[in-house]
Amino acid sequence: MPPPSSSIAVIGAGIAGLSCARTLRAAGHAVTLFDKGRGPGGRLSSRRAPGAIVDLGAQYFTARDPAFQAELAGWLDRGLVKRWPTSLWRIDAQGWQPHRDDHPRYCATPRMSALTRHLAEGLTLTAGARILGLERLLDGWFLEDDQQRRHGPFRRVAISVPAPQAEALVATQDDTLAEACRGIEQSPCWAGYALFDAPLPDLPGVARDWQAAFVNAGPLRFVSRNHLKPGRDKQGESLTLLATAEWSQAWLEQPAEQVADALYMAFLEQLPANALPAAPRLLAAHRWRYAQPLSAAPGPGFCLGAHGLALCGDGWLGPRVEDAWCSGRRLAQHWLTQPGSDQQAVTG
Ligand SMILES: Cc1cc2nc3c(=O)[nH]c(=O)nc-3n(C[C@H](O)[C@H](O)[C@H](O)COP(=O)(O)OP(=O)(O)OC[C@H]3O[C@@H](n4cnc5c(N)ncnc54)[C@H](O)[C@@H]3O)c2cc1C
Repeated sequence: MPPPSSSIAVIGAGIAGLSCARTLRAAGHAVTLFDKGRGPGGRLSSRRAPGAIVDLGAQYFTARDPAFQAELAGWLDRGLVKRWPTSLWRIDAQGWQPHRDDHPRYCATPRMSALTRHLAEGLTLTAGARILGLERLLDGWFLEDDQQRRHGPFRRVAISVPAPQAEALVATQDDTLAEACRGIEQSPCWAGYALFDAPLPDLPGVARDWQAAFVNAGPLRFVSRNHLKPGRDKQGESLTLLATAEWSQAWLEQPAEQVADALYMAFLEQLPANALPAAPRLLAAHRWRYAQPLSAAPGPGFCLGAHGLALCGDGWLGPRVEDAWCSGRRLAQHWLTQPGSDQQAVTG
């Protein structure tokens, strides 16, 4: 039996799509999420390796927005997220120094993707479905996936994928949305990771349990020790090594093995010669082609097209997890409070 015509499709089960879907679902709408990945998460993804779980995308998140702070309070109560890192450092020309600022940071336990798994609970998600095209017929929107399956009809479709990927989906359907997508540039990020058989040697003048460091030198911008995140105490030493946007752009098409070597060498350069670790037992890298928006579109935090088609995600509000969550929620709230607004095109 086809879904009711009031049903809503959400393409992309990252944190924006999930917050959009949850808000709509809580108001009684029939929502179906689609994601090309094996599960939800998007850029909050984690990789399981022997003896370690490595966060490959966002390493932590902040909470500046009041609505996100309220949601975070519930996650903290349930033990889903914890404060992290609490031992944060900065590496620059002066060496290693403690980094302190006014932003508490949090991560999900026991891995980043546990948060999006939790948010997906109770929602209808079709995973492993890359949506290739949309078509609007008299009875609503239909989606076509990469396995020649057709889904629909849907009265509304929220597209919560990075803007360059969204552009490909809306190009034949909505010129205004396609144009808005072209205005958002997403910077890439190579994420290297290294697993070790033994803990890193202690560093002179640095806390033994340093958890993460901003790097202001060379190709790296952030280093994090996954096994020192909450809930991972049984895991061995593992590092995530995030490259700067500029370096990632320059190395975008290089083989992952070479990238991993280069990022690990860059990390070793930040260590004194007498504190070098033994060679990692696994060294690899993951490429994020659309890691974070360079600037977000000004506007309400989402982009509304015609006939119930809309865009949300970090590109429409800001480059952080909390922006993506707020963007999805704001789009859902807009649809809930202004149900007749489908025909007007409001760009961000
Ligand atoms: C390396 C890295 C480090 C970061 N560090 C931080 C940080 O420290 N703090 C912070 O707050 N934020 C950080 N971010 C940014 C943060 O991760 C993102 O802003 C946020 O996760 C974006 O969520 P989203 O739902 O908008 O998009 P995504 O998480 O990208 O979700 C989009 C989803 O759409 C799916 N998809 C794409 N195309 C299709 C298609 N055609 N059909 C079906 N599904 C599709 C994808 O599989 C994905 O699951 C970082 C990101 C990266 C990559």
